[in-house]
Amino acid sequence: MTETAAVSVAVETPRYSGVGGLLDYACEQPLTPGTLVRVPLGRRDLPGIVWQRAVNAPPAPPELRPLAAVLTALPPLAPEWRELVDFAAAYYQRGVGELALAVLPPDLRKLDDTRLARRLARLERAPAKATAATEPPARPELNAEQSAALSALAGADRPVLLHGVTGSGKTEVYLRAAEAALLKGRQALVLVPEINLTPQLEARFAERFPGHVMVSLHSGLTPAQRLRHWLLAHLGHADLVLGTRLAVFASMPRLGLIVVDEEHDPSFKQQEGARYSARDLAVWRAHRLGVTVLLGSATPSLETWQRALEGRYLRLALDSRIGGGAMPAVRLIDMTRLPREAQQERVLAPPLLTAITERIERGEQSLLLLNRRGYAPVLHCSACGWKSGCPHCSAWRVFHKADRTLRCHHCGLSERVPRACPDCGNLDIAPLGRGTEKLQEQLAALLPGARVARLDADSTRGAGVLQQQLGAVHAGEVDVLVGTQMLAKGHDFRRVTLVAAVNPDAALFSSDFRAPERLFALLMQAAGRAGRDAAQAARSEMWVQTWHPRHPLYAALRAHDYEAYAAAQLAERRAAGLPPFASLALLRAEARTVEAARAFLNDASALAAAHEGVTVYPPVPPPVSKVADVERFQMLVESASRVALQRMLAAWLPGLHELRARHKGLLRWAVDVDPLAI
Ligand code: ADP
Ligand code: ZN
Ligand code: ZN
Repeated sequence: MTETAAVSVAVETPRYSGVGGLLDYACEQPLTPGTLVRVPLGRRDLPGIVWQRAVNAPPAPPELRPLAAVLTALPPLAPEWRELVDFAAAYYQRGVGELALAVLPPDLRKLDDTRLARRLARLERAPAKATAATEPPARPELNAEQSAALSALAGADRPVLLHGVTGSGKTEVYLRAAEAALLKGRQALVLVPEINLTPQLEARFAERFPGHVMVSLHSGLTPAQRLRHWLLAHLGHADLVLGTRLAVFASMPRLGLIVVDEEHDPSFKQQEGARYSARDLAVWRAHRLGVTVLLGSATPSLETWQRALEGRYLRLALDSRIGGGAMPAVRLIDMTRLPREAQQERVLAPPLLTAITERIERGEQSLLLLNRRGYAPVLHCSACGWKSGCPHCSAWRVFHKADRTLRCHHCGLSERVPRACPDCGNLDIAPLGRGTEKLQEQLAALLPGARVARLDADSTRGAGVLQQQLGAVHAGEVDVLVGTQMLAKGHDFRRVTLVAAVNPDAALFSSDFRAPERLFALLMQAAGRAGRDAAQAARSEMWVQTWHPRHPLYAALRAHDYEAYAAAQLAERRAAGLPPFASLALLRAEARTVEAARAFLNDASALAAAHEGVTVYPPVPPPVSKVADVERFQMLVESASRVALQRMLAAWLPGLHELRARHKGLLRWAVDVDPLAI
């Protein structure tokens, strides 16, 4: 009789344990690490992944419980995949099991071996819907910059930053790089910020690679689709995986290239659970595998830019737009010089309105960017000063006129607009400020006969609505499109010759040190939506309504000078000891009372005192401190050395887990490593 073996299994236990969430079980025969299993835990039966042979095996100690089941049908997850998860769990301070199971398709956790085998058999029979290769698809001839970038890419020994202005043909470079990987029999992974916003990109890849299987991986898929796509990647049947941040964890046995499009986009950072950066993990994973990673952007994140300046990343530039079109001329409208009434009415500056009218007459389109959805950010009673605050959050409830609701964008509370002031009964309550809904209404009144549409999270609810709206814009059925930052993302609008930022100033004075960086990227991106058709580029314009026309950010925008802006920002960051010249982590605490949240952080701070080279700042409330009756507090931890910070966090966390037990009033706490929003 053979001895019972023992294995360490990664199990989804959110509670931290010293061994990173691995639990030992007994099994009949030795199992390959990476095998899916089910294990008993207490009275429950949980999915798990065999992570490694247990330290003390064999023979297994008699008290070990046996595995509940082994899912033999699925080929084990590769060592490379487990290393990625190990690294991410350690770096972002989460349990290995928690992370490993969270990044698998939810349905994979539910199936038993028989049903899984049936699914796999079905996939083998009809591997995928690869469109039959009829004739090789037409590919544009590369221009000189693209060719140079591609040949440099082929020999790159470092992560590559493809720094190309909007419309310079970055996507074509991704396509060629993917083609080269596929030719070598490798798989390519393409990460994008939000797949729903860029159906064109998906279409371009599908069109270019008929005869190859392409799958998408993002949270908008049904659980069944997500499992199917994941399996196709894991089995090596899919050659291309196009996905959002969660796709960085796709299991791909032949992975040969990773592309991160719009690498600066904040959506690559997961904002709950294990708060990982898919961009940073992509770089780590590619390095580990010795494959190329291509980070593309017109406005790289300052972290990436600094690494390129230091030579740690290879910078390849595409400086001109395809077709030679110029970037739109940027016009700043000094709002302080408008007559007082015009300022107060906050419609649009008269010259901007004229410019839009001219576009309509010529059959061209205009985009108006306003980063605030709803009709008005707050309702106000002029008699008693009441404002439409949310009773559960430290935030105003937004007035949505279309369905006459007051909605809290933080906790979701939605109520019908009161007829009269709830405090004094005054009938005359009025909206203050302006959101996209109101701007659309104002424009419709000012431009009779014009087709004014709106694109934001409210207007695009429901399956297919966004695609339909974008389709209408592409078809020329819209004259003026009002919307939030959704508008600025990668769309290849061909008829747009005017883009206007209606009220972008707020970000200039935000308490978040990254707000200006995000604003600059957004405005550059928005400018890139105008004049994408080279024939129209010359009369394309980007307008900015501002009360601070001499701000250096706008000067850099006018010059389309990312490098000057980045240099100025980096100098400020260096002087202030901020990223990329320092590493940060944020300890967040949530409780029913401010006192409870703060008390936990104060104790946590005392525990941290011993770590050298690391600064722990006093606890402060975040900008929106209360959400859904939960008080939030946070504490910043900073170090000039990433390694020192990592060492400190690893030493600190076990203490925090113990501390938590002594703070009954605390609801939740979490560490955010390399936080994006502060
Ligand atoms: P980016 O991703 O940098 O914004 P795209 O790759 O979308 O730019 O390119 C802009 C447009 O130019 C697209 O319509 C694309 O098909 C086209 N294009 C790209 N490269 C070439 C090329 N070498 N020759 C002709 N057209 C090209
Ligand atoms: Zn009142
Ligand atoms: Zn609320």
